[in-house]
Order: sequence, then C-alpha cells, then structure tokens
Amino acid sequence: MGLRSELQYKESLRDGRAVFFRGERVEDVTTHPVIKIAVDHAAIDYRMAEEERFRPLAVVSDRGAEYSRYYHLPRNAEDLSARSQLIASATREGATLVVLIKEIGTDALFALHLVGAEMAAKGKPEYLSRIEKFHRYCRDNDLALAVAQTDVKGDRSLSPSAQPDPDSYVRIVEERPGGIVVRGAKVHTSVSVNANEVIVLPTRAMKADEKAYAVSFALPMATSGLKLIASPHGSAPKEAFEHPISARHKMMETLTVFDDVFVPEERVFLKGEAEFAGPIALNFVRYHRFTAVSYKLPLLELLVGSAYAIAEANGILRASHVRDKLTTLAAYHTTVRGLIEHAAAKCTVEHGLAVPNTLLTNVAKYHFAHNYHQAVQIVQDLAGGLLVTAPAAEDLESEATRDYVLKYLGGPKGVGAEQRLRLLNLIGDLTASDFGGYQEVLAVHAEGGFEAEKLQAYREYEFAPVAAYARQLAGL
Ligand SMILES: Cc1cc2nc3c(=O)[nH]c(=O)nc-3n(C[C@H](O)[C@H](O)[C@H](O)COP(=O)(O)OP(=O)(O)OC[C@H]3O[C@@H](n4cnc5c(N)ncnc54)[C@H](O)[C@@H]3O)c2cc1C
Repeated sequence: MGLRSELQYKESLRDGRAVFFRGERVEDVTTHPVIKIAVDHAAIDYRMAEEERFRPLAVVSDRGAEYSRYYHLPRNAEDLSARSQLIASATREGATLVVLIKEIGTDALFALHLVGAEMAAKGKPEYLSRIEKFHRYCRDNDLALAVAQTDVKGDRSLSPSAQPDPDSYVRIVEERPGGIVVRGAKVHTSVSVNANEVIVLPTRAMKADEKAYAVSFALPMATSGLKLIASPHGSAPKEAFEHPISARHKMMETLTVFDDVFVPEERVFLKGEAEFAGPIALNFVRYHRFTAVSYKLPLLELLVGSAYAIAEANGILRASHVRDKLTTLAAYHTTVRGLIEHAAAKCTVEHGLAVPNTLLTNVAKYHFAHNYHQAVQIVQDLAGGLLVTAPAAEDLESEATRDYVLKYLGGPKGVGAEQRLRLLNLIGDLTASDFGGYQEVLAVHAEGGFEAEKLQAYREYEFAPVAAYARQLAGL
C-alpha cells in the first residue's frame, strides 16, 4: 500500500475497537456525533496529501514510492524545517488545532530509533530491527498513530515500584513464549479514538529494580483488552456562527486501559532494560516539543491577527495602549517562531538522525506556555465583553431581533454588526469557550509541564563558560 485516501482512513477505523463515551460502548467512531468531528478533523492529513498545493510539503518520493513526509527520518536541518512547516500548515488547515495523527507517532518512532541504536551498540540489536520494521509498516500503510506515554502516576511523590497500587504505571505482568502481557493505564492519550495504532513509551526514568515498568511497545487499536475511555470535554453541540473553530475541529483524549493485554514479541521495543527507559522518555520529548512549538505557530498567528482585526473593528487601532499591546503580541509570536526555526538550524545528528536543538526547543516551548495566558488576556482586553455576551446566530435571522442587532452592534463606519460579531465569535471560541479552556490547559501541560521544560533547559544551558566570564571580571 501507499498513501491512503480520506475514505480509506475512515474505513480503517471501523475495526471493533473498544471505545467508551460517557459509559457507553461506541459502535462506530466515524458516525458517533461527537467523535466524528475528531475523525473529520484528523482526515485533514489525508486530504492535504491529495491537494496539489500541499503535495510537495506533505509527500516524499523515494525510488518510485511515495509516502507521508511525517514518516521521513530527518537527516539534516532542512528535513526538520520541512517537517516543522508541514506541521504548521496542517494546523492552519485545522483552524489552529493540531492534527497530530502522524506528528506524535513519528516523534516516538524517531526517539525509539535513537535509543534502539544505543541498545544495538550495547549488544541488543533485536529492538532496533523491530523498530525499523514497525516504522516501515506504519509508513508503507500510511497509518494514523497515537502515543501513550503519560501514566496515571498515583501518588506523584512515590516512584512506580513504591505506589500503593502497583498498576499506577504500565508494567509487564507476565512473560509468555512469543510475547508479554501488560497491565495499567495511560492518561490524556490524544487521537487514540481515531488512530490505527498506539505506541506506548515509558513516562520517566526507571530504577534497576523497576524492570517491569521499563516497557515500550505498539498495538493496533482493536487489540483485545485495550480499552479507550474518551473524555467528553467540549462535546456539547456547537453552532458554527458562534463557534467557528470548535464546531468543526476537535481532538479527543482517552484514559487508555491495558487490561492484561498480550503484546507479540515483534512489537516490543523495550522489555526490562531499566537504564533505557529514561533515554526513551527524554528523546521522545526532544522531538515532541519541537512538534509542539511548530503547531503553536498558527495559534499565535491567530492571536495576533484577531487582536489587530478586532482593534480595527472597535475603532481603537490608533490608541497608544493598543499599539503597545499589539507589539507585545507580535514580539511573543516572533520570539517563539525565531527560536523554533533556530532549533532546526542548530540541530545535532545522532545515529544518522537530525535532532532539533534541545535547549532552543525547550526555551521556545517554555516561552510559549509561560506567556500564553497573558496573550489571551490582551486579546480579550482589546475585544471587549461581547466575547461572552453577544446575541445568538438566530437573533441575526429573526425578524423580531435582527434590526436591533444590526443597528446597535456595529463598529466604526464600514464595520457592520455581523462582521464585528463574526470576529468576536472567533475570538470567543479561541479564548472564552470550552475550546479556549482546552487550549489553555494544552499550553500548560501538553508535551510536559513548565517544570519539565525548565529542567531540560537548565541541563542544556552551558553555565560554566558564563560563570567563568563573571569570575574573570570579578578578578577571581
Ligand atoms: C490536552 C492534552 C493532550 C495530551 N496528549 C498526550 C498524549 O497524546 N500522550 C501522552 O502520553 N500524554 C499526553 N498529554 C499529557 C501531558 O504530557 C501531561 O499532562 C503532562 O506531562 C503533565 O502530567 P499530568 O497531567 O499527569 O500532571 P502532573 O504530572 O500530575 O502535574 C501536576 C503538577 O504536579 C507537579 N508534579 C508532578 N510530579 C511531581 C513531583 N514528583 N514532585 C513535585 N511536583 C510534581 C507538576 O510540576 C505540576 O505542577 C496531554 C495532556 C493534555 C492536557
């Protein structure tokens, strides 16, 4: 098989997977009233591969074969830059919501390649050949992938083996001829309801006596014992005039339960080698935070763009405080974009794979996340209270209300009420709806929280030479 069509992708999701929504088993995710929005959103990826304007970016040709660029192993800065542009373009098509069905899975595959090469160098070549085979399988079948890394974690102050419930981190409970049996649950797993496979990674470093928790593998979604309990966040029906983004675009997360699931040996990428659990977790986020910042760029474009457009529609564009706030937003966007472009340019090549610069990537992600709520505050400030008090779409239709809405809610000359309301509804959906709340929590927690990013940045920054410079000037 080569590239799949949107239809083939959707058909592949009708495979008997165990998805639960508000306690009910979902028969078909492609027709479920809420989940189908996430399916349609994810299908952007397959549509882009067919569109002439995106094909050069979305598709890679290799000796007569064509495959999705996401699966292309990055070899240099240009490959990373093209990947970043593809992620940003897809997110733009998704109206600021990342598509993610290949982005996150290939981040995991790249990390597994790096650590697999380390393991091979230390006398364990079997993992790398399984990882390479699985990578080819996903690429050649154009599969959609989820990644389940974050464990439920129980008491955060205790290590996996010290938890009152030993299943607080996914673990191996049995070894059988030809495979292993795993138990536990991962949480916040994005796109799992509409992916073909889930790749499971350790969430942290493991100690020598935590071999059972040092486990990585991949499974098709319809595997026996694999249960996906979907979050209903943001699932109320939405009207497109009032929610121009979230009525059409959605990503869904699950509590992903492994109820004594058998994993065949050829799909096991780590089995008890505790010293490699940490490197898998860390290498995944080296790629995944680069993906994260790439997909944040359209969001920042829209924050700046909508702030400017609503300032114009409110007649305040010339006010000095407005220009000051717009400059703050522009500087925020420019800093994040500059850092991530530089992270690609300053990549390192490890085991033949280009890895984005870790310090720049983490600083970019931290700068984005740390300033996101302030940026939202500025956009809300410039927009005004109609973000949460505007009349409904029906009020623009009804004879009883239409003329009042049109007469009283316009802006400066030339800015009609409907035009202004459309802009306000866009900003309301982006910042003051359940989707806006989702974006805020996504900014803070997804791809690792603030402390994880700061820890990585602290480790990567070279303090020694600057401290030596300070000592030298101090005459020490
Ligand atoms: C929308 C969304 C999508 C996501 N998608 C995915 C996905 O597809 N796959 C995936 O694997 N994960 C995914 N994540 C998970 C994401 O990586 C985690 O949310 C993040 O790592 C934080 O983990 P947590 O939510 O368990 O919070 P916690 O780790 O519980 O953090 C809560 C607070 O506790 C603090 N804390 C935690 N442990 C300690 C400790 N030992 N000592 C001191 N302080 C501590 C943290 O710093 C933080 O302040 C997603 C998250 C979100 C919100």
